[in-house]
Amino acid sequence: MAHSTPLRLLAAALLAGAALAATAQDNKVLNLYSARHYQTDEALYANFTKATGIKINRIDADDAGVLNRLKAEGAASPADVVLLVDAARLTKAESEGLFQPVNSAVLQARIPAHLRDNADGGGPQWFGFSTRARIVVYNKATVQPADVDSYQKLADPKNKGKVCTRSGSHPYNLTLFGAMLQHLGPQATEAWLKGLVDNMARAPKGGDTDQIKAAASGECQIALTNSYYLARLMRSTKPEDVEVVSKIGFVFPNQQSWGTHVNISGGALAKHAKNRAEAVAFLEYLAGDEAQRYFADGNNEWPAVASVKLNNPALEAMGTFKVDTLPIADAGRNQAQVQQMLDRVGFK
Ligand code: FE
Repeated sequence: MAHSTPLRLLAAALLAGAALAATAQDNKVLNLYSARHYQTDEALYANFTKATGIKINRIDADDAGVLNRLKAEGAASPADVVLLVDAARLTKAESEGLFQPVNSAVLQARIPAHLRDNADGGGPQWFGFSTRARIVVYNKATVQPADVDSYQKLADPKNKGKVCTRSGSHPYNLTLFGAMLQHLGPQATEAWLKGLVDNMARAPKGGDTDQIKAAASGECQIALTNSYYLARLMRSTKPEDVEVVSKIGFVFPNQQSWGTHVNISGGALAKHAKNRAEAVAFLEYLAGDEAQRYFADGNNEWPAVASVKLNNPALEAMGTFKVDTLPIADAGRNQAQVQQMLDRVGFK
């Protein structure tokens, strides 16, 4: 049994008081709906809680799951912050009224204008926190890089029977095609999409990694993929992945013109957020140097804040490139028009 001297009692009372204060602080929470599931994100959230005392309750789902849940919950939704992948999904969620504007000098200063929402009225409704490039992978034995160094060339008749891609209706492609629509206009874009269909080695199926593997195996020769899928294979030590990487080359398209299309992982303030101040603090935290590093590195992406440097061997090996600075929001908002074109040209 411990002897309770007055000093000990005082110390115990002080400790109890400190514990109460800590509990009051711990009551600050924020509810995060996230479509990101990377191990490094755990450290990201823990560091935020350590720095601010704000506890994060996380609900994980895939992108469609997050959006369906937000819609079903409506005004009763406990969501404060929403993390989604791809500008097509972010612009769609915005148009469905699931977000609200955020007026933050920190976010405006840190996140480049082309990587955030640019809609009129009250400030941006979402911000990109990491970037991924939509690149071209090719079979080194049969394709010259000069044959595929622009998105337009993928539709060139000389590449007939060589191209493979995931579904045209996938957000990654909808946003890329939406960017093409901004650059080329409707007629040329639809003709380009028709040319892509004419050049396909097979009907669209699978994800981006499947396309890379098909280009390596010779099932097709030329594939569109997000950069992080290639980076993941480049960092893999599995013999079958090493074999795939040995057979392929890649290019950052459109280096001689407007630059390579980059998409984003992004975040937004939920329409019915109850913990608004905490949510904005978290979004601002994601734009900080350390968080930028974790957020990007977790999925082999580049930080949205360009001055933040990663220590990622695969991205280092890929090198630097000219980025298309067309507002990604404009590309995302073209998705309905793009889908109509895809239907007309028979792009599945
Ligand atoms: Fe992906």
